[in-house]
Amino acid sequence: ATPTALLVGTGRGAQLGILIKGPEALESTRRVDTVVLDKTGTVTTGRMSLLAVTAAEGERRDEVLRLAAALETGSEHPVARAVVAGATEVGALPPVTGFANVAGLGVTGAVDGRQVLLGRARLLREAGLVVPDDIARAATDAEAAGRTGVLVGWDGRARGLLAVADQVKPTSGEAVRRLRALGLKPVLLTGDNATVARAVAAEVGVDEVIAEVLPTEKVEVVARLQGEGRVVAMVGDGVNDAAALARADLGLAMGTGTDVAIEASDLTLVRDDLLAAVDAIRLARSTLGTIK
Ligand code: ADP
Ligand code: MG
Repeated sequence: ATPTALLVGTGRGAQLGILIKGPEALESTRRVDTVVLDKTGTVTTGRMSLLAVTAAEGERRDEVLRLAAALETGSEHPVARAVVAGATEVGALPPVTGFANVAGLGVTGAVDGRQVLLGRARLLREAGLVVPDDIARAATDAEAAGRTGVLVGWDGRARGLLAVADQVKPTSGEAVRRLRALGLKPVLLTGDNATVARAVAAEVGVDEVIAEVLPTEKVEVVARLQGEGRVVAMVGDGVNDAAALARADLGLAMGTGTDVAIEASDLTLVRDDLLAAVDAIRLARSTLGTIK
């Protein structure tokens, strides 16, 4: 590699809002044929809102929300921020003891003497909680509406359902079109439920969707694609994306993302915009094109 070409690439990168960790990061870019896109915070804004709270029969809605919000004060997850911000009406939140984050599934802790679980149905079911029909139905309805349904339970039963959602970033659809124009195959990868994932994918024009993937499994998905002979770029922002970003042939972190994601990546996109990923791949290709 000629130092001059790399310098030009790096300088132009800075103008475009792309920080390049090292020249060797770009070596494989010319051969990239697949771009794996994280959903929340990458294709979508990651700024979720709490849109609905459903209490199971015999439960109080404000009590469900109060316990859920108290528990979520211990989490930085987009779902947690939405639940806390959406719970101002319930007043002061009680303290939590024994808080634990279960990566990609939810959170648990003791609130007001109850052991509360909050997250995907799988988290509650695996802990032996029963999910009553009305809550299961509320979850299905939320997902059908393109929302993420989060269950809240204690004392052996799910007792409430919180529906949260964020929005696709305005330029994500255009970015996907441009990735395709560069001959790249986009793939959406998420820990969120398959219905929401497919809705987001359809909105931006992605047809390959891999959903309900645990954080530890994201890296396995990248490795599997590589095993099929694909050369993979990955764009992500979360703690749960870090291993996959490191494993990818080219890792691109959203600059608004977590420090671990940025550290694991070859490139950081300063603009909170998927078009920056397209610019980065084009820039990397043209920089390499000038290297003899
Ligand atoms: P993504 O790949 O979309 O960033 P994650 O792996 O972080 O998703 O989370 C997957 C799912 O786990 C979320 O959609 C949510 O249902 C659940 N979850 C994770 N963390 C929390 C939390 N703090 N509170 C509630 N639900 C959570
Ligand atoms: Mg994310």
